[in-house]
Amino acid sequence: MNLVDALAGEIGPRTAGSDAAAQAAETVAGAFRDLGLDVGFQEFHLLGYEADEPQLEVEGERWDAGPCMYAHTFDGEGAVRRIGVGKAPVGDGLLPSFAVVDAGGHEVARLLTSPFSTGAIPFMSSHTHITTPPTAFVSRADAERLVDGMRVRLKIGGRFVPGRIERNVIAEIPGRSDQHVVVGAHYDSVWHGPGAIDNASGVEGVRRIGEALAGRDLERSVRLVAFAAEEIKLTGSHYYVDELQLRGELDRVAGMVNLDCIAFGEQLNLLASPSALLERATELARSLGLLDRYELVTGPATGGVDSHWFATNQVPAVTVLHFPYDEYHLTGDVPALVDERQFEDAVALGLALVESQLSEPVVI
Ligand SMILES: [Zn+2]
Repeated sequence: MNLVDALAGEIGPRTAGSDAAAQAAETVAGAFRDLGLDVGFQEFHLLGYEADEPQLEVEGERWDAGPCMYAHTFDGEGAVRRIGVGKAPVGDGLLPSFAVVDAGGHEVARLLTSPFSTGAIPFMSSHTHITTPPTAFVSRADAERLVDGMRVRLKIGGRFVPGRIERNVIAEIPGRSDQHVVVGAHYDSVWHGPGAIDNASGVEGVRRIGEALAGRDLERSVRLVAFAAEEIKLTGSHYYVDELQLRGELDRVAGMVNLDCIAFGEQLNLLASPSALLERATELARSLGLLDRYELVTGPATGGVDSHWFATNQVPAVTVLHFPYDEYHLTGDVPALVDERQFEDAVALGLALVESQLSEPVVI
């Protein structure tokens, strides 16, 4: 079974808390069971959010807008006022932010610039779930057309949905010690996004690494984890690490390898902490010949990827990605994008990183 086709082709968009996400979790669990592994679900409660497509009119003209997850609602109008500019997470572009202000000069909504991709993508703001103001995303090209004083009509109509359940899918490959290396990838997708590259590819990568390791005599154990709800502020991996923390079991995790967007993208990204693990990852990439094939981008394991919570809790962690790509978070993120060479290279590197940490964990 290829999980890219199963998750992105057959199930399609699978936002956190949706029935499709539950179906995706079952599909991943089935694929892990097919490797002969014991599989469990780590369930957690979730306040869900159902986004509506934002309705945006600027100077009487309809513009594309992407929903900001967990935004509070708004239906009204005002004038554009630029409130500042942030740095793009990739490259050296800038991301302007705009307020929509009412006749009294009060901010009533926000228009943010999509940090990645070419279009107006679904994303989240830097605010947490409960404080996100009425917000929509515009494309970078449209952000450049926004000028102070322009008249805006905006409708943000998302709904908070209590009582949802989400689940991380966990499979164990037993080794000689209960110290283990976590190999993870998130299986959820964004609103309307089939998420073939982001991140059915990573989940299929975890499956392939599991297939390579199952049945082998391993010095330490391996835990395959398909994380839920990554697209809403890394919620599944956050829950996973918090549970280890409160049970006093975090020191059993010798290392973490995260795969996110591994089958199509412009550059090979290695995001690792501490620096000793980044050096090791870079050397492994070199020995596999990947530095001859790809431009390498490096950074810490923290930020918008599931390795974040491990790294911030002093677990050596690394994320492997090919990034960026134009279809990110859009309806065009479909299985046909998959470049099997990039895919296999990322899986080979992921496997080498797991093997290296199984025999010789990085010490923090
Ligand atoms: Zn992702």
